[in-house]
Amino acid sequence: MALRKLIPALVLWTVSALWLHADKPHVVASFSLPADWVRQVAGDRVELDVLAGNGQDIHAYEPAPRDLAKLSRADLVVEIGAGLEYWLDDMLAASRFQGRRLTLSAPLTLRHANDELDHEEHGDHDTHEHDGHHHGEHDPHVWMDPENVRLMSQILTDALCELDPPNAETYRRNEERWAQHLNDLDQHARERFDKIPVEDRVIITYHDNLGYFAARYGIEIPATILGSISTESGEPSARQMARLIRLIRQDKVGAVFTDPGSNARLSTELCRETGLPAPKALYVGYLSAGPDGPQDYEALFLSTVDTVADSLQTSQHIE
Ligand SMILES: [Zn+2]
Repeated sequence: MALRKLIPALVLWTVSALWLHADKPHVVASFSLPADWVRQVAGDRVELDVLAGNGQDIHAYEPAPRDLAKLSRADLVVEIGAGLEYWLDDMLAASRFQGRRLTLSAPLTLRHANDELDHEEHGDHDTHEHDGHHHGEHDPHVWMDPENVRLMSQILTDALCELDPPNAETYRRNEERWAQHLNDLDQHARERFDKIPVEDRVIITYHDNLGYFAARYGIEIPATILGSISTESGEPSARQMARLIRLIRQDKVGAVFTDPGSNARLSTELCRETGLPAPKALYVGYLSAGPDGPQDYEALFLSTVDTVADSLQTSQHIE
């Protein structure tokens, strides 16, 4: 008798549990960093998919059929914007995406690509044909300023609350905790760079990806090896390499860096020619697929801060 009464309840419970699971909002992030911020704010209350996952350079991402399937079911797609996900328009059209598209960089002040030094010699290489970029484009690496991540997390939280009002309180609470955390990261960076005289904070990166970071912490980046905001651009000519070597000597550049997964030969050559310590790799554009690199934004940011600050302090020591 009792069992017979229980069965309908059990069926109801099972069906509603399945229904609840299926009912979780489905969010797609363009790559591993925005995916981390969705996790910080939403935890496991949303079903999260990523297009360019850990270990995948966002600049080198190539859309795959399984990614179209993810987008076709998505309620919300989260991108940085500023030209970074230039393939997304076509993908959304092809997937018959019905959800909302959130461009995180929309409320931010974007910087222009820092290629002043590279203008003059553009005639002797064909960057334009390689990456389809042109001058006047924006720098999409906004996340290397934690204040930008705080602002982007705010509009992300607003979007999640609209999408899923029953969980809004949880999202707001998580966002508050995350904002505090971002503030701590910023403080750590300030403390580290404040100890280095401003005239010694001069570095060269592999591609132009630390502009926002440099502006926030008073670092000068007189040139980059590729002279491009993308890793997909052509390598510098011998003449440009010679110019970089001259520049390193003149500007008292304290450290040269490379990108993980990129050709370290160029950075190594510059360091060897100018007597700088061997270049370290900076994680900026994606999280690591394995334990040898950062698994979340916090680790990525801290590793960049500490690697840059350590390198500058070591080079001060040598002088
Ligand atoms: Zn980049």
